[in-house]
Amino acid sequence: MKQQSCSTVRVFHRCGGCGKRQEFINSGKFRVNANGNSVDVWLIYRCKKCKHSWNLTIFERVKPGKIPQELYGHFMDNDIEIACKYGNDIDFLKRNNAELK
Ligand SMILES: [Zn+2]
Repeated sequence: MKQQSCSTVRVFHRCGGCGKRQEFINSGKFRVNANGNSVDVWLIYRCKKCKHSWNLTIFERVKPGKIPQELYGHFMDNDIEIACKYGNDIDFLKRNNAELK
């Protein structure tokens, strides 16, 4: 049985939808944008109130070969374990200007 959800660090951010600081929830979904020689990967968070999405950058404009194939497959499959791993990665959250309290 695959895990369906996970508890991750509580994350706050100014929401572009409600215009207020809100708690954002790890959606467990990734967005991958491959554009020729460069790939972007985001983990999508959603505003707890209005569901406005906020993409947290995992990879930005990297060459496709730079991302391990297995990891790339996890992104494509929206692997919940990987989503949880990033959701608990404080450095990753801080890099994306997430407020943790
Ligand atoms: Zn909102």
